[in-house]
Amino acid sequence: MNPFIYTALPTRVIFGRGKISEVATEAMRLGMKHPLVITTKHQASSGLAIIKKSGGVAFAGAAMHTPSNVTEEALAIVSAEGCDGTIALGGGSSTGLGKAIALRTDLPQLVIPTSYAGSEMTNILGETADGAKTTKRDSKIQPESVIYDADLLDTLPDNFAATSGMNAIAHAVEGLYAVDGNPIISLMAEEGIRALATALPKGKAGHNEALYGAWLCATVLGSVSMALHHKLCHVLGGSFNLPHAETHTVILPHATAYNSVGSPNAMGRVIRALGSKTAAAGLYDLAQKLGAPLTLKELGMPEDGLDKAADIAVANPYPNPRVLKHAAIRQLLDDAYHGRRPQH
Ligand code: NAD
Repeated sequence: MNPFIYTALPTRVIFGRGKISEVATEAMRLGMKHPLVITTKHQASSGLAIIKKSGGVAFAGAAMHTPSNVTEEALAIVSAEGCDGTIALGGGSSTGLGKAIALRTDLPQLVIPTSYAGSEMTNILGETADGAKTTKRDSKIQPESVIYDADLLDTLPDNFAATSGMNAIAHAVEGLYAVDGNPIISLMAEEGIRALATALPKGKAGHNEALYGAWLCATVLGSVSMALHHKLCHVLGGSFNLPHAETHTVILPHATAYNSVGSPNAMGRVIRALGSKTAAAGLYDLAQKLGAPLTLKELGMPEDGLDKAADIAVANPYPNPRVLKHAAIRQLLDDAYHGRRPQH
């Protein structure tokens, strides 16, 4: 057993179908009498249902990558209404806005995730201002409470469930070879991959088990450092505006193939969790089985942007199980662009 450091996350988790019924009690427990209830425009009606249960005021303007002008708009309502906390219902976009408000006000957050993205279990916030995305970590960003209720995922379109689930698996795969990994996180990561890989092909019938897997994977994301896969997705999302969950889905088998050389133990656990012969091809096959996108080309990536993406991905060094070599990363991106099935 190698030495390790493990820090438990302070977020309280309430899990189970129908648990949305506890939203008012949980909000009160956090001292909220007049919360700001955050959703995207698309999920505005779900936000109104929360307000019926817990009171408060609606803000249905959350947007991908937490634009600072939207945060300013929401903060103006918090201040005018005297809000005493936030309830964010939705995917990573709604959660991101609750976190941005908490960073500036230290108000308590209750998050009700409706995708598998996993932001609710981290103290990480990505924000965009003037076209640039910056990422911060702060204990104020970590949500106080999370209610996971798979009933709320019944409206999740199958194609988004597939890519959002692959996005969650990516957190766990990178957690297995993280430079600051530890035995507890490896247990969670392997079980998270197993639960998602088993549940995602079942569609709606698998939502509850997939949400359990997504929680575990989110805990991994919040606890240890991510590496090449997340870096590449950050570059492709930030510099080429590719969609978040779909980009994770396409890149994951290729980043895993790249890193399989330097992390045999991690790959062994991925193989065991997937029940596949190899890790990278097993992830590719899962994405294909789910009908998810397999090429960067279909996500709108310009082929002549691959050089620039490889340049940015190796510009600043970061820990990764295999040394970052420009030519090999460029090849990885080419494989992802064309959607070639990894050989191992
Ligand atoms: P999203 O939150 O943007 O959701 C995409 C769309 O799907 C939205 O319109 C949303 O309203 C809708 N939607 C979500 N759940 C639904 C449901 N159950 N039924 C119907 N529609 C639903 O997308 P996402 O992939 O969940 O989150 C992506 C964002 O989260 C990105 O900005 C990403 O950077 C961020 N993120 C941050 C962290 C972190 O730790 N900071 C972790 C993961 C993701």
